Amino acid sequence: MSGLTVNNLGKSFGSNRVLEGISFEVAEGEFAILLGPSGCGKSTVLRLIAGLERQDTGEIFIGNQEITELTPRERDIAMVFQSYALYPHMNVFENMAFSLKMKKQPWQEIEEKVRNAAELLGIEELLRRKPKELSGGQRQRVALGRAIVRNPKIFLFDEPLSNLDAKLRSAMRIELAKLHKQLKTTMIYVTHDQIEAMTLGEKIIVMEHGTIQQVGTPEDIYQRPANVFVAGFIGSPQINLIKGRITEKNNEVFFETDGMSLTLNNNRLRTYIGQEITLGIRPEAITLGEGPIAGEIEL
Ligand code: ADP
Ligand code: MG
Repeated sequence: MSGLTVNNLGKSFGSNRVLEGISFEVAEGEFAILLGPSGCGKSTVLRLIAGLERQDTGEIFIGNQEITELTPRERDIAMVFQSYALYPHMNVFENMAFSLKMKKQPWQEIEEKVRNAAELLGIEELLRRKPKELSGGQRQRVALGRAIVRNPKIFLFDEPLSNLDAKLRSAMRIELAKLHKQLKTTMIYVTHDQIEAMTLGEKIIVMEHGTIQQVGTPEDIYQRPANVFVAGFIGSPQINLIKGRITEKNNEVFFETDGMSLTLNNNRLRTYIGQEITLGIRPEAITLGEGPIAGEIEL
């Protein structure tokens, strides 16, 4: 069993409370995304899981085993960063073999693991090159290869594609999805990019200001956002958020705001009669027609 459970993680740096009550589960073999704006605490969550940082409260489990007190090395977790952090004086083969050598694995085994990972990533031709002789995309592949050879229980990715240009980024996204399919290992992937999250994730954990806002499938998050933050953060072009009030006239329910009155045929909104609400309308849900709203379309 190598699913992950984190329970009530909290963390401060000095007087700065950066994580509060972080709890979620990632099933064995699942691809989960931690999504949220820059500075919301995503990397700190990953660093706690990897054991690179110490939490103030909470526990972390892999399967049924608590790993909260284990050293990073004992956790059997591999992490891939945005900066590739390759050893510049070692060639690709040596970079990928390094952790296995440290574990004193037999040479033949090391060679086989490195070759297999290199094949999986399509970098067999690059094994003798030094990092400075590689493109950004190739370096990121080597960083991935270094994680793969360790055959970890869990992979953690911290915005691994952010340094790549847009075209390469979308190609690498597809490769990562394929890699997950082949390896079937539990993966947790941090990004602030909602498109990356929506295309890669089986489960998305949305964070803001050090707290979890919603956990769900991409469809849940898009169609049934838990709050205004999630609704506004996901979707491009953005959802329209309009403040107004629910009213009733002749047994019909309306959404009213300055100069606009919409008849609502959703009876669930009856419970909000007389209250101020925020109405969210996804752009693709709007069609042109003879309607109650007059306006001009700007392009
Ligand atoms: P994200 O990865 O979502 O951009 P981080 O987890 O890196 O966010 O950071 C969350 C908050 O914690 C930020 O306000 C950041 O400045 C702060 N922080 C992160 N690491 C440290 C640290 N080692 N010392 C002090 N503050 C930190
Ligand atoms: Mg970060």
